[in-house]
This record gives sequence, structure tokens and C-alpha cells, in this order.
Amino acid sequence: MTVTLNRRDFLTYGGATIAGLTLGETGRRLLARADAQAATLETTNGVETFATSVCRECPAGCGVRVRLMDGAPVKIDGNPNCPIARGRLCAKGQASLEAYFDPDRLVGPAKRVGRRGEDRWAPIGWDEAIATLASHLRAAAPAGAIVALAADESGPLDAVWTQFWTAAHARLAWTVPATAERLGPAFHALTGATGDPAFDLERATHVLSFGAPVVEDWLSPVWTQRSFGRFRRSASRPRGRLVQVDQRRSLTARKADEWLPVAAERQSILAYGIASVLLREDRIDRRQLADLGTDSTQFESAVVTHYTPDAVAMATGVPVVTLLRLARDLVATPQPLVVANADAPRTLADAVFALNALLGAFDRPGGVSVAPWRRAPSRDPMSATTALADLAAHGSATSVLALRDASALRALAAPADMERALERCGLIVSFSPYADETTTLADLLLPTHTPLESWHALVPPTADGAEKLACARPAVAPRLGTRDLVAILHRTGAAMGGDIAEPTPESAEAAVRPELDRIWNLRRGTPYTTSFETNWMRQLERGGWWVPPATTSEDFGRAVLEAGGWVDPYVATGLLRPAIVRRGGLTFVAPAAGELDAGLPETFATSRDEAVAPAQVSPTLRLVTFTPSTVNLAGSPNQPVLFELLGQPDNAPWHVWAELNPSTAKRFGIEAGTTIRISSSAGSIEAVASLVEHAPANTVAVAYVPGLRRGGRWARLVEADVRRLWEPGTAREAIGVRVTPV
Ligand code: SF4
Repeated sequence: MTVTLNRRDFLTYGGATIAGLTLGETGRRLLARADAQAATLETTNGVETFATSVCRECPAGCGVRVRLMDGAPVKIDGNPNCPIARGRLCAKGQASLEAYFDPDRLVGPAKRVGRRGEDRWAPIGWDEAIATLASHLRAAAPAGAIVALAADESGPLDAVWTQFWTAAHARLAWTVPATAERLGPAFHALTGATGDPAFDLERATHVLSFGAPVVEDWLSPVWTQRSFGRFRRSASRPRGRLVQVDQRRSLTARKADEWLPVAAERQSILAYGIASVLLREDRIDRRQLADLGTDSTQFESAVVTHYTPDAVAMATGVPVVTLLRLARDLVATPQPLVVANADAPRTLADAVFALNALLGAFDRPGGVSVAPWRRAPSRDPMSATTALADLAAHGSATSVLALRDASALRALAAPADMERALERCGLIVSFSPYADETTTLADLLLPTHTPLESWHALVPPTADGAEKLACARPAVAPRLGTRDLVAILHRTGAAMGGDIAEPTPESAEAAVRPELDRIWNLRRGTPYTTSFETNWMRQLERGGWWVPPATTSEDFGRAVLEAGGWVDPYVATGLLRPAIVRRGGLTFVAPAAGELDAGLPETFATSRDEAVAPAQVSPTLRLVTFTPSTVNLAGSPNQPVLFELLGQPDNAPWHVWAELNPSTAKRFGIEAGTTIRISSSAGSIEAVASLVEHAPANTVAVAYVPGLRRGGRWARLVEADVRRLWEPGTAREAIGVRVTPV
């Protein structure tokens, strides 16, 4: 059965959320033929086919295998040949099918006809849409008044986006990277290496983690979870030990062998405290430091002088005896590794890489290496929040904000600031398949194909040091009035004329094909294959052999697309040490001593809260914000199953919850399941209380869930948004709140 949607089908919509512009319930059923499929699958011989594609729910780029019945996608599983996922997917990947059938998908281009946010739109043709965008860009480009915000990604398609907006003199910004790229500046400052750091979790024997959500959503989540499984249970060596330093009793903290509750801004002090013990007791790998040509005298002196065990204990709440044990445990094991969350503050990232250097963890199994390549052109490191704050301050009637698969209103900043930024824009244009919260404030909607309908080519963040390119053709044919993003940019460039008309390829396929040719010409690597064949290829490459999987560039490209990607398993190891030696050794950043003076934060006691005398107890609790692993900050919150899996208490699905230590809760008359009001000087929200044994006393941890008024039908069901509590000018980690039962 062929699924076709014609104009008349769309006129029959009963459930469109933005009248006539979105798929709606009826359209969703037409697209899925869900009822018909359900009725016929059991009884008739539907034609079953499979297609490879790439998950786009995060930058990890896991390969997926799409099961199609009569051309309609009915199931998404992991691609068993993908070296990242090896047939597995996380919950977000499994739920990506829901995005394809999202009733809030846009069916074609439209322009705003009412006031912003009124949801009054007129469908327009693609010619008019492109002409409108081109004329606004022509006016804004000379003044540099364009901001282009995109989901974090790397690869030839991202390069086209960068190229187009650079030619238009736009400022480029990306949503919060989930990848090790964020740790890159600290890694580069210490080692001089230009690639991202790669952590060999699988072969480590002892991991000290500073807030890294290892079993939740760290770096390349499926890869990490597979590695964690082997770290814990390997036939050839003892079970790996995990110590988690975290301000909240996260899922990783629960799975760890030991959890140390330490306030986020104090974790770098603890890391330097451990370094200080290693140096005082002369337990560091001095021969490696000498081999690398490193002079660490100044750094050692600063750490040993200021980060005395007593001072560190005072500042972090971690007893001296524990501090000494943490340091000694690290060196009692052959392959210790220290890791941090991808969005760790710079001081913590500096401390974590310094610890790895002292432990001799660079370029050894179970340590830190450097990713061999990064295909993205050098990027302006401006974050989405900075770009939008700038727009709020300097935006004008000619300013243009372009959004690619990114919602400005979901950025990790106070929503009021974001709305002000959007108000200052002359034109907001959204390149997204979905009607999300920012789309409904936009002026021009240019809906793009969904991932299942698109060409892909992206560089997965290198978790294992191997080079990879995840790529695929469309798994299903586009059936709505959407367009390929690259084609939209190409036509816009042509309409603008001048320099910008030249460089952009005509389509995503035209951008992907040269990349496949480039790989063919490298004469190494292989299309995604089984792990046995990948290992075989590694052995061959070590011996100086390469057996091509095809005889021509065309055949090779076809094989890579059918497999879902290309991998060169060999190149990675041993690049970091030479980079450090070339640079003349490690450049340690001496830590500032000033942060030690503040003492233990009043509102962050240790879990031994019984020891806190009532007179010392503050009526204010420290606010800890965390992002549940199933929340997607880049895409659209259009997957209801993810809202069911947030991890909240069983009795409160679809609600934001707040975690409290039982004794802290008792002090405020709060029981499990009570609805509580949480107030800061900026605002207040309601949440359901969840009592967590051993949670730090005097803190309240609140989930960040994108409960946005215009965020699609599912997001609207979530009522509280923790960002309403964030105070302008106050560090997020330092916000104090009051809690009262409602
Ligand atoms: S880790 Fe990322 S790319 Fe992989 S399945 Fe999950 S969401 Fe998709």
C-alpha cells in the first residue's frame, strides 16, 4: 500500500494546532495509516523493508535501522553494524519515530499575519518564502545584524550551514554542546592538542567522576553506556570502581561505588585537593612529566601551598581522611581516569585534566587521548545564550534570527530574557519540521524534512579515537510540503546574489557526495561492518594493508550509504604525547587560591545533616538544577514517551519534581508527594516533592523540563519551569530558595 497525502487530505484536518499549518491528528493518521496498518499487518502480506539512517536526537550520531511496512516507518532499532551503538539505542533514539508522526509537524511554509505569538499565519509558496528571507538578509547582512543559531553538530551539512551564514556576515551560535568539545579549551590549554579529548572509560580500572552523568547522558550516551558495562564487568580483569562527586544523588551517583555530595562550584577545589595530596606524598608519575618536557614547579608549589587538606575539607565538606583516601585509591590501581561533565566550568575542567596528567593517564589504555579529527570548520565559540543576550541588547528592526532545529526559548537562560531578545528582532525565521515554542513566535516558517526523510552526513563525537562518518540516504520519501535545508539555503543565496550566491551546494545530497569521494580517496577505513570485520580491518591497516570494499568511488559511496557510515578503526592512538612534546611540555594552569577563602557554602551541608545544629540551619535552601537525561535541549519536545520516562516519582508523571533530603523535608513540613511552592526573588513555581535518602541537606534539586506554553501539545502539559527561579546576575549555583507546602 502506498501512502500518499494530497491537498484534499490536508483540508480535512480536524486537529491542526495552528489552523491549517500543522499535521494535526487526522493528518498524523493519514501519514501513518495507523489504523489501516494495525488492521492489516496481522492478516495480509504487507511488504516489509529495512533502511539505514542516523539518529539525530543528539550529536552522538548512532546508526539506526528503520523497519518499514509498505513504505511507512513502524519501528526504529539500532544499526548492529554501527560502531557507536552496535545495535542499541537510548530512549531518545527509540522515541524518534514519534517525531516523524508528530501532529505538530508543519506541512509547508507560512508567514505570520497577526501579532507575534498570536498564532495567526498564512500559508505561502516556497518562492514567496525564499524571496522574503532573501530580502531581509540583504538588508541585515551589511550591518552584521544576523544571528544564526543551530543544534550542535559537526560534518559536511553543518559546514554548509556555517559557510552560508559566514558569507552573509552572520554571527553563528550553537546550542549547548553535549560533546567533549566543551572540554576542549581546557584540554588544549594544558596539552596543546587541537582535537577533542577522548576518554577510554572501558579500559579504565578506577574512575573518579566530577559530575559526569556516566550512566545517563554523557558525551556519546549509547557508546558510554556500552563502555560502562564493560568497565564494570569484564572477563579479563576486576570490576572497575566508580566514585561520583555530584551535587545531587543522580542516577550515576546511585550506581557508583561511592558518592560524595559536593556543591558544583566547590568541585574544582576537591580536584586540586586530591592533586595536592598526590604531590605531597610524591605519588605522581614524574618520569612521564619529564618525558613530555614539562616543568610543573610553579603549579606544584601553588597547589601544595594553598590546597592543604584542612583548607580543602573546610571548603568542600569532604573530611581530610576521605580526601587522603580518594588520592591514594587513584594511584593504587593501574589505569585510573578522572572525568568531568561536558559543561563543567573551566576551573573544574582545568583541574580534571591536570589530575589526569599527574596520574600519567595521557595516551594510555583507560586514559585520555585526542580525537584525530574534527571536520567542522573553526567555529565562533559564542553560546546560544550569549548570542541571544547580545540580540536583546543591540537588536533592531533589521536584525534577523535564524534557527536550525534549535529553539531559542529552550536555551538554558531565563525565558523572560529570551523573549526580550526575540522581541528586538526584525525577522525570526525557523528552519524546523515542527511547531515548537520559538516557531510560534517566528515570522517566517520554512519547514525542513524530518531526519527520516533527509540525507545525513555527520561526524560523531569520537568516543574511541576512531575516525567516523555517519551518513545515510532518506529512509522514507518526504510526503509533506517540506524542503531539504541545503536546498533552501542554496535558493536563498541565489536570490540574494553577490558573494553568497556562489558557495552553497544545491542539495544535501550534493553536499554529502563529495564527502564520500573524499573518504574513498583516503584509501583507508571501511563502511560500517560487524565488530569482527572492523577488528580485521584494524589488523590489516596496522600491517600497512587496505582491502577496498569496492572498485569504484560510486560503488564505495553506495556501500557506505547502505551500511549507514564509514569508520577507520586504526588511526587514533598515540597522537597526544607527540603533540605535547612538540609544544614543549604540559602547560599547567595554576589554580587561584581565592576560592578557598569562602568556606563551606551555608546552604550546602554534607549528607550528615543530623550533625547540623538547628541554630545553624538557614531557612533558605540552595537550588540545584538538573536536566533529566531524556530531555532534549536541541529538538522539539514532541515525543510523549520521553515525558513519561523523565524519572520523576511514580505518583506524579508529567509533573516537575523537586528532590529533598527527608530530614530537610521534615523541617519544612513536607512529605513525599506533597505539592510544594519553591520561591526565589525572581519568581516561584510548584513542584511535587520527592524525598531522596542521603540527598545533601539544605538543598532542593529541581528538574529542568521544557514546560513551555507554546512548546507543542506535550510540553504544554508540564506546568513548571525551573528557569523562572533564576535571578538575573546571580550564578545559577548560588540561588537560594524557600519551600512551602501548598
Ligand atoms: S545517544 Fe543520541 S544519537 Fe544515540 S540513540 Fe541516543 S539520542 Fe540517538
